[in-house]
This record gives sequence, C-alpha cells and structure tokens, in this order.
Amino acid sequence: MKLFVVPTPIGNLEDITLRALRVLKEVDFVLSEDTRTTQNLLRHFDIEKNCYAYHIHNEHQQLENITRQIQNASSVALTSDAGTPCISDPGYLLVRECIKNNIKVECLPGATALIPALVNSGIPASSFKFYGFIPHKKGKETTLKRMSAAQETSIFYESPYRLLKTLEMMIPFFGEERPVAIARELTKIHEENFRGTLAEAITHFSNKTVKGEIVVIVGTPKDIKQTETTPLFE
Ligand code: SAM
Repeated sequence: MKLFVVPTPIGNLEDITLRALRVLKEVDFVLSEDTRTTQNLLRHFDIEKNCYAYHIHNEHQQLENITRQIQNASSVALTSDAGTPCISDPGYLLVRECIKNNIKVECLPGATALIPALVNSGIPASSFKFYGFIPHKKGKETTLKRMSAAQETSIFYESPYRLLKTLEMMIPFFGEERPVAIARELTKIHEENFRGTLAEAITHFSNKTVKGEIVVIVGTPKDIKQTETTPLFE
C-alpha cells in the first residue's frame, strides 16, 4: 500500500513527467480534486483509470474511508487540478493520515507554480517564504506588514481580481522601490513575467484588465539597490 502524490501540469501539458505517466498507468485508482479535470488529462495521455473525488469539501469527512481504501489497494495516486497537491491544494490531511497509518507516501517531483515564478523573477532564490493565498479581508494588512519585514524573499498566490488592490495595499509597508516580480499564466501562451519596483508594477497593471493565474514574488529591503531602474517584462 502506497500513496503517490502526482504533480500535473500548470498549463503546458508537456510538463507532465514520464514517471507521472507511468505511475498514473500503474496505480489501482486516482484520487483527484476534480475527477473531470483529471479524466481529461488522463484521456489526453491515453490512460484509462478510475478517478474518485478528493476535494477540499470532503477532505475531513472522507479521510477515514479513503485511508481504508488506500490500505486495501496496492498503490493509489493523488492529483489536484494543476501543480502539486498540498501546495495551496487539498492533500496535506491525507498525507498526514497515511503516515499515521504506516502507508508509504511518495511525492513525485514536478510542476508547481511557485518555483518557476521565483526562478524567473531574478530576485534572490536561496531563501524564501511561501504564503500560499494571503487572506482577502481580515488579517490581510497584518500579513502584508509581517511580510514587509521578512529577511528572505516572499512568495504568494493572488487572484487577478485582487492583484492591483493588494499591490496598492503593500505601498505603506514595502515602499515604492521594493523589487517585485509578477508571473502570470506560466507555461501558457500568454505567459508574462513582470520585473520591477512595486510602484512600477502598480502602473503596469493599472493600464489593463488583469487576467489569468498569478504568482507574486517580493524581494527584501536589501534587494532594493540591485533593481533595474526601468521595469523589465516579457
Ligand atoms: N497546486 C498548485 C501549485 O503547485 O502551484 C497551486 C494551486 S492553487 C489552487 C492555484 C494558484 O496557483 C493560482 O491562483 C495561481 O496563483 C497559481 N498558479 C497556478 N498555475 C499558475 C500558472 N500557470 N501561472 C501562474 N500562477 C499559477
């Protein structure tokens, strides 16, 4: 009995790994955040496999039942809609429960949005803190204030609808000159990597409707001087 945690592409389907495909073919069944999304992916790669729902709404209630099913199987794969399960996606509770029940857990390396966003940013990547999605309302200011004092690079996921407001809320804590990078639609046709200061990011994203999936990378105060004077984006 074994649980394979299987990352899936965040846009470009070529980012599935050979090992992920083999594991998806070999497991008894797949637990997926959304069975339709996973079935579409499996169909694309000519894999026929039963998928059962494991999503945020049933994570707590289904834990015991799903753990029993994994114990009765030789191996099972866990996938989310995109990227690595457990990273701002369901999975952590199941991994913890499997460990508690002596079920082997193996996470395959693979797609996740935060790592390419960080590497593309040109902001120091040796030490960073990932916040997942920051709070929308209550606690947002406190989170941003704490983030502004961090001694390592900060990374968070943000909705396109909230991006501009969040960047504007950051100004009093981070200052206009703080280096930021905003990765949008990574691995997709309209991928964009904005690199500049916080003030430049606000100007850039004020001039258009912000669409797509977004990762925000923020440098520390000591990165300020190393920033280019003009924004760089592709
Ligand atoms: N499990 C995923 C991972 O490993 O990155 C994250 C899932 S979370 C529900 C979805 C968020 O991840 C999006 O709102 C966005 O912030 C980020 N994301 C996912 N795909 C992305 C992409 N292609 N480009 C930029 N950000 C992406």
